[in-house]
Amino acid sequence: MTEFAPSNLAAIDAAHHIHPFSDMHKLNASGTRFISRGEGVHIWDSTGKKYLDAFAGLWCVNVGYGRTSIAEAAFRQMQELPYYNSFFGTTTPPATLLAQKIASHTGGRLSHVFFTNSGSEATDTWFRMARVYWKAVGHPLKTMVIARTNGYHGSTVAGASLGGMKWMHEQGNLPIAGVQHIGQPYWYAEGGDLTPEAFGLKVAQELEAKILDLGAENVAAFVAEPIQGAGGVIVPPSTYWPEIRRITEKYNILLVADEVITGFGRLGSWFGHQHFGFEPDLAPIAKGLSSGYLPIGGVMISERVAKVLIEEVGDFHHGFTYSGHPAAAVAALENLRIIEEEGLVERVRDDVGPYLVQALASLRDHELVGETPSVGLMGAVQITADKATRRRFDKPDDIGTQVRNHCLDNGLILRATGDRMLFSPPLIISRSEIDQTVETLRHALDALR
Ligand code: PLP
Repeated sequence: MTEFAPSNLAAIDAAHHIHPFSDMHKLNASGTRFISRGEGVHIWDSTGKKYLDAFAGLWCVNVGYGRTSIAEAAFRQMQELPYYNSFFGTTTPPATLLAQKIASHTGGRLSHVFFTNSGSEATDTWFRMARVYWKAVGHPLKTMVIARTNGYHGSTVAGASLGGMKWMHEQGNLPIAGVQHIGQPYWYAEGGDLTPEAFGLKVAQELEAKILDLGAENVAAFVAEPIQGAGGVIVPPSTYWPEIRRITEKYNILLVADEVITGFGRLGSWFGHQHFGFEPDLAPIAKGLSSGYLPIGGVMISERVAKVLIEEVGDFHHGFTYSGHPAAAVAALENLRIIEEEGLVERVRDDVGPYLVQALASLRDHELVGETPSVGLMGAVQITADKATRRRFDKPDDIGTQVRNHCLDNGLILRATGDRMLFSPPLIISRSEIDQTVETLRHALDALR
């Protein structure tokens, strides 16, 4: 593909391209890295350097790179019908079949799907949908949405508002009105002397306090990722989710599970809520739905909400030109076929998931490693200045960046969120590739001493 790789690409990029979540001033000085090819769990940059991508792009390339059957399915669909919409009385067969397929993996409990192009659009979609639902059932005041500190739900105005990242709120005068936050179940950093179980209950009960403060009659929904991803793979203590479900039921509040990362096998279950054993009312999805081969997302909708949308609301004035895009839907269908046929969910649950847990746990003998939470193929390594007191380094971001860069130099892609190193490899990663990943990380930690 030489037409995409002229020798002055870096200069062109600096002159014309603003990247998402990137300090362009620094990047233009250091030079951006162009990724040009992928196969299995590996990618290559334009200099020919090979990397093991233990982050699956951005938590999304679940079936790995180089799946020609997905490309071929999309190609055939584009030849036959590249685009038609699902507005005003039409749709396309792939969109319909994809909705059915997704619902089938929830046991039919999340019976309907509304399609979007991304996780952020899915957030905006359920946000409006939740308010529309409550208005339709005679509770028009139920409009407020409660989310969590350090949660991530996308970059649109609603997404960044619901997200609990202060540094995002600082840009664009966020959060918008009607959004409130409670604490996160990050025991290692915030649990103090409590046991993880006691801490899990305590932070869950912040939801009850917030609802009572706002008045349940004003609260539409609570949203959380089953495991916080971008916030640092924060695995909640076992007491957390049952208590959250109890509270949302008690006060008649919709529970929204953001499954954008945790969906489609990442935790060794089709969806994260199944791993934790609760039923959400709405659940945004994206990423692993198509393994990133084409952009597509959506909101999975429970029968309870779907019934009201269909029978009471009628026309939900909401949608995107590309909602249910046929080529993206075909790519997603082929991706899900691969996950089913290769038994990738079971593979994560029974084989490589438990293996990653053990492999990460083996790092705990390292003086700089605190906890190593991991479920399925979503894990983290917490770097600590003092294991006994769980004290963290003064500049956690610098520590994480140093480790990440050391790994990059040695051909391994991991993500650093502050002082936590995050793993989210393709679901096809082998045991020996997990060993290689952990070994490289150990060397990077040694280099910090
Ligand atoms: N929700 C979660 C949990 C995410 O991790 C992300 C992206 O990382 C989003 C929503 C937003 O998805 P997108 O980047 O496709 O808009």
